[in-house]
Amino acid sequence: MKKPQPTSVVTGAAGFLGSHLTDLLLARGYKVIGIDNFVTGTVDNISHLGGHPRFKFIQQDVSEFIFLNEPVDYVWHFASPASPVDYLELPIQTLKVGSLGTHKALGLARHKQARFLLASTSEIYGDPLVHPQTEDYWGNVNPIGPRGCYDEAKRFAEAMTMAYHREHKVETRIVRIFNTYGPRMRLHDGRVVPSFISQALKHKPVTVFGKGRQTRSFCYVSDLIEGIYRLMMSRYGSPMNIGNPSEMTVLEFAREIIRATNSRSRIIFKPLPQDDPRQRRPDITRARKILRWDPKVRLTEGLARTVEYFRGKV
Ligand code: UDP
Repeated sequence: MKKPQPTSVVTGAAGFLGSHLTDLLLARGYKVIGIDNFVTGTVDNISHLGGHPRFKFIQQDVSEFIFLNEPVDYVWHFASPASPVDYLELPIQTLKVGSLGTHKALGLARHKQARFLLASTSEIYGDPLVHPQTEDYWGNVNPIGPRGCYDEAKRFAEAMTMAYHREHKVETRIVRIFNTYGPRMRLHDGRVVPSFISQALKHKPVTVFGKGRQTRSFCYVSDLIEGIYRLMMSRYGSPMNIGNPSEMTVLEFAREIIRATNSRSRIIFKPLPQDDPRQRRPDITRARKILRWDPKVRLTEGLARTVEYFRGKV
């Protein structure tokens, strides 16, 4: 008899990462049940899946009870606003999805005896005092600052995930996602990649915050999703950084975008938002060793694909 295809539930399936993950799972033969309430996700990201025989979509806030009839093998919990601009506008929803939503998604995994993966974030390291960030660093987070709603929600989510693992023996995975870019980011989500690309494509000034000396390292979405898939399929239950360790300043990044878009834009400087982390770069020793994973897509190549996507949008 043919083995039934395993079923994955993806929360936040209409978001940037959730939709790319859904595509990968479908390509690898899974059934996927996507859940999203479209607070920051968009139907455009999943419209190509309409009528797919192995894809089902439920429009729901995952902070509410999740009821599913069928067996589930994997729960991938990706639902959350993820851009600083979004979570500044939606602090309570961000806290709710990270806490209540994670609780519901874990409850679903427990009930179905499914394996659970939490999409956590480099933000749990706050404005890090350890550089590059290793998974055993506990972080430097301001709980009451403007980013606190996201950072603390994700820290709570990690604690809740470990509690379900310890108390209910749910098989759990935690990925700490560093800055990621690629097609399907929202043009106006306020993050640096869509902001700079849309400004550059329109030859408008590129807005660097502060002096642009803060650093980030950018991972192309296909690399990230592959790393996360490997983590879920691994036996590794402690948190794992996934991101690209090639670090640059935001000012260098602005110049890179201007080059990639052949733009006539100039760079202007705007005030640095409160608690903006000064440096960020993942230590990916664990992922390299345990998952045999390394990012493959170079920045120039990833940016070319991303710029192509945004050309059709601006
Ligand atoms: N940033 C910037 N100009 C913009 C948007 C963002 O200089 O128009 C900076 C921001 O201050 C931060 C970095 O780019 O230092 C990355 O910001 P993003 O919002 O993408 O995500 P973060 O890494 O801060 O979560």
